[in-house]
Amino acid sequence: MNLARTNLFQQKAYINGEFVDANSKKTFPVFNPYTGEEIAQVADCGAEETKLAIAKAGDAFKIWKTYTATKRGKILRRWYELQLEHQKDLAQLLTIEQGKPMAEAVGEIRYGASFVEWFAEEARRAYGDTIPGHQKDKRILVIKQAIGVVGAITPWNFPSAMITRKVAPALAAGCTVVVKPSELTPLSALALAVLAQEAGIPPGVFNVIPTNKAASVGEELTSNPMVRKISFTGSTAVGKLLLRQCADTVKKVSMELGGNAPFIVFDDADIDKAVAGAIASKYRNAGQTCVCSNRIFIQAGIYDEFIQKFTAAAKAQKIGNGLERGITIGPMIEEKAVASVELLVEDAIAKGASLLCGGQRHGGAGSLIYQPTILGNANPEMKVFHTEIFGPVAPVFKFKTEEEVLAMANDTPYGLAAYFYGRDYARLWRVAEALEYGMVGINSFTVSTTVAPFGGVKESGMGREGSKYGMDDYLELKYMLWSGVE
Ligand code: ADP
Repeated sequence: MNLARTNLFQQKAYINGEFVDANSKKTFPVFNPYTGEEIAQVADCGAEETKLAIAKAGDAFKIWKTYTATKRGKILRRWYELQLEHQKDLAQLLTIEQGKPMAEAVGEIRYGASFVEWFAEEARRAYGDTIPGHQKDKRILVIKQAIGVVGAITPWNFPSAMITRKVAPALAAGCTVVVKPSELTPLSALALAVLAQEAGIPPGVFNVIPTNKAASVGEELTSNPMVRKISFTGSTAVGKLLLRQCADTVKKVSMELGGNAPFIVFDDADIDKAVAGAIASKYRNAGQTCVCSNRIFIQAGIYDEFIQKFTAAAKAQKIGNGLERGITIGPMIEEKAVASVELLVEDAIAKGASLLCGGQRHGGAGSLIYQPTILGNANPEMKVFHTEIFGPVAPVFKFKTEEEVLAMANDTPYGLAAYFYGRDYARLWRVAEALEYGMVGINSFTVSTTVAPFGGVKESGMGREGSKYGMDDYLELKYMLWSGVE
């Protein structure tokens, strides 16, 4: 590790403005997924430390919510500037613990910081309403108030941006937060805490609880009555569990869960653009994002041309150590992840898919790298049709009609992102409206931006992150009925 600011590398928990050991003094190891080397021993907190952080966040809430929105915004703005100033260090830490290529890591830091900038501005726009009274002497006023202490549970695939995307709107609204980062990538979270402290975010307003015992920390966050809201990004299975756990204390929830994104290319599309889009949307972060294309549907008339160009482009990807220049695909996060992708590819081949490229681990160094893989002639009997692949494997399905492809695209309990390419104006509208997804990219391979609402429908979750809607998830409406205005 070669950080300009060495103190961004932190291994302790961040509670009430201080970096502290776990009560037990226990630690857990963090590994570099490319080299397999241990890179840190991080404080292994549990329910006790979580309870303390929640109590401190509760105390801090009483003060933080009384700050003017302008004051909260100014502090957030400073946090944003520090993230940009130290983007190279933050990106390096991210690549070392997560594996994604440096260019993508820098992209994530900038993307993550953009939420802090955006919500620093939005803090001042938590407008309410006045409503014409329903009786002569009545006046009705609606105000928005911060919900309270928020528990945020975040994943390893975007170890930095998934934190800022939750914490920035929460803090802007006047809430305080206890974050539990993924046990696989706690270093990016702790580096954000260093910069939060430096930006002047007061003690207790933002806390980070690293742990190797996700379930016990999760249990405390979801059962503690002082926590009024849980925001989670991760698998649908864990999301469902947390929803059940939140029921007893009736917490508000935001859930950003799994996806099964269709990527549809119609006959009249610009094929080269569609190929470039499919590559970016499938292989980004080695296929480990919830908005990665999971199923690629190509209309019969252009299937052969698309396959030929797509395969050539996949073969041209540079796999290796994300810290090296020019690498486009790094290692997967852990052995389990590679093994699960191997099983999916085996299943597809056994059910008639043709392996057009990849299909194996990369030899030599970087044993967690899985080659960019394309499976032709895929069909809905294969597990890749129903399962979130979360790896660099692209199953390609051939279709004939718009009706047929829409039925296949919507045949999933997920509903996060969908993409399609074409030119016929009326069809673009029809398809965009018919796709049962929270986000639709039309002639675009990406939907993520600070200014638009990110989130899914069906089992992909609830709530929206980013945009003018993003703060609503951290605000309650209070309506006041003024009577006796004679
Ligand atoms: P992924 O498939 O992306 O690893 P997970 O849902 O397993 O998704 O992980 C997302 C986050 O949820 C991580 O921070 C992980 O530690 C956390 N997590 C996993 N299991 C639980 C649990 N039982 N309670 C609370 N958090 C959990």
